[in-house]
This record gives sequence, C-alpha cells and structure tokens, in this order.
Amino acid sequence: MKYSFFLTFLLSSLFSFAQSKLSNPEEDCEFVLPWTCNECTFNWTGECLNNLPQGNGVLTVFHGSDEIMRYEGEMEKGTFNGEGYYKDGMNEMEGVFENGNFIDNNPYALQRKAIIDTISFNDTKDWELKSQFTKQIDNLHFTFPSKGYGYTNRDKLLKECVDAFNANCKIINDPDYTEFTQIIFVDSKKEMLLHSGLYIKGGAANIYRRTVHMVVFDNGIESEKRTNPPIKHEIMHMVSMTAWGIPPINVTWLNEGLATYAGDKCSGYSVSELYRFFLEKKMLVSMDSLSENFYQIEEMIGYHQSACIVEYLIENYGIEKLEALWKNGLTSFENIYGLSFSQMEMDLNKHILKKHPLVPNIDWSVLKEGCK
Ligand SMILES: [Zn+2]
Repeated sequence: MKYSFFLTFLLSSLFSFAQSKLSNPEEDCEFVLPWTCNECTFNWTGECLNNLPQGNGVLTVFHGSDEIMRYEGEMEKGTFNGEGYYKDGMNEMEGVFENGNFIDNNPYALQRKAIIDTISFNDTKDWELKSQFTKQIDNLHFTFPSKGYGYTNRDKLLKECVDAFNANCKIINDPDYTEFTQIIFVDSKKEMLLHSGLYIKGGAANIYRRTVHMVVFDNGIESEKRTNPPIKHEIMHMVSMTAWGIPPINVTWLNEGLATYAGDKCSGYSVSELYRFFLEKKMLVSMDSLSENFYQIEEMIGYHQSACIVEYLIENYGIEKLEALWKNGLTSFENIYGLSFSQMEMDLNKHILKKHPLVPNIDWSVLKEGCK
C-alpha cells in the first residue's frame, strides 16, 4: 500500500512563511509576495479594491527589469482565486486557484499522460453497459466492481469501512459521522483514473465531493500482488476534515499523520518502531520540511514521522489540543502545548529511545516501496 493525498495542493508552501509586501504607488495597490524580496516591484493590470488586486488581470513581479513571476487570471482580496495561469522560475500551472492555492495539481496528472492510453476505457467504439454492485448503509453509499477480488470480498471490505468510520470517530472524539459519502472500490489503476482522476494504486479521499476511491485487486493483475486498500487512512481524512475542517497548509503533515496513525501498522511495524528506525538512521526530516514541503518528502518517512508525532501528541496531551493545532496551524503550537515544537521533538525522541531500546531490523529498500 502506498498512501495517497487528500485533494488540495498548494501553489507554494512558502505562502505561510517568508513574505514581502510590495506596493505600487501609482495605483495605491499592494501585493504580498510569498517569498522575501524587498527590492521587487509589481504591476497589476486589473482593478484594486481596498488596496488589493481584485478581479481579472495580469500580475507581474519584477526584480530590477527581470520578470520573476507572472499570474494571469482572477484575483480576490490580493490572492489568486479562480481560473488562472501562474509562472515563476520554478513552477508553471494553469487551472483553478483557491485562496492562493492551486487546486488539484498533483504529480500524477503530469505523469499519467505519458503512462496511460486514455482513449481506450471502452473496449469497443459502441455503447457499452458496465455493471457495478452498490449497497447503501445509512449515509454511506458503496460501489464495488461486478467481478474479481473486490466483488468476492465486498462484504468484508464494506464492514472494514463501516468499522473504520466508527473507530476513527472514536479517535477524534466525534459522536458520529452522518455526512452522505460515497465509497467507491475499483479494480485497477486505470479504473481509478477513470473515476477519481488520479492514476494511483491505494486510495484517495476527496473532501469536497465527499468521495473515497480505493483500488483493490488480487494477485496476478497488473503484475502486482493483492492490494491492501488504505481504508482506515482515507476514511480518517474524511472523518477528520468533516469534523474539523480543512487544516492550514503548514499542518498538512498533521492531516496525513492522523490518517496514518489511524491506519496503524505498516508491514507489521508500528509508527513508533518506524520512527525509531528513522531516528537511528538519521532519516527524519526537519520540521521546516514537514510543514513546508510535505508532499516532496520521501513518502514512507514523512507519513510515519508525522504519524508518530500525532500519536505522541494524542497520548500525552489529548485530542482537544490536536484539534486546536489542526484548526490554528503550526504557529500556534507553543500557545497550545506550552512548549516549543523543537522541545516537543526532543521529548519525543527520548520517549522513543526508551520505548524501543533496540532498532527494528527494517530493510529500507523494501519498506520504501510501500507498506505490505
Ligand atoms: Zn492521506
């Protein structure tokens, strides 16, 4: 099993950190650049409302005479919001922006074009009837393939999902999950692409559409072993974001950490055993990386390091504080917990060394490929 994202991606993680406020005296307009550049200037062809770019236009940022950033599209209150095209020295993206974040930009979107023939989802050029099995249990609507491993094991998988909703509600102290939600099992990565838009194995939770997609197939298909769908992980995304909202970008690690913590063991190792291994091998990443570039970190490290932090915070400080951190973001950590993040990390490392004096015998080259 490899983990998957929840579907919000950021334009730039730098948004929540270093910034420079650029002003344009001619227009009496200001733009906050998401990184530090005190000598930069900007130009905006559209209107300004309350001194902030608003509506449609082209925004260009200059360093001297060099254009270093360009955005063409809709803005609201000075942030990219709506249809737009963005380009800077490292990034180029076109699509929909929301509060400065680029939505649904994922590494697979670029990859999948090269990998898969998207004009052959149907076998013939004519109309085709495709069958599925569906079942509804209160607010949960399930869809399964009409044959194969997912079909044969549909009752077991459905029960695992229902149990996961209950167990996850318990973890975050939520009385009940009552949102109408679709759980859709598909039997290949290709079907995953067709239904979720993501060419991935594993699963994906879409909080906006209240939909969870998971891939499940048996040995022999796509030359893969049986998949082990991350049911508790993806359902925790749904439960936690429904109860607490979508967290600020600098605590995406908390969102993935909580989901991974709920998912529990990976290849038989607990999250604290995995943390112990990474600690020993000096593979843990800095808090800056966790909070700024979560999805760029080696997956098995980022997800399990975060899960271990979540486990430690819940066990030692309770779920209410975690909820507060989720809602208020990383900058509120010290206020909520009464100690700095780095102090907490030191305490955690001490705790882990005591809990697991011996380093688990993990083969990194195997673990790297995902939880078995
Ligand atoms: Zn996830």
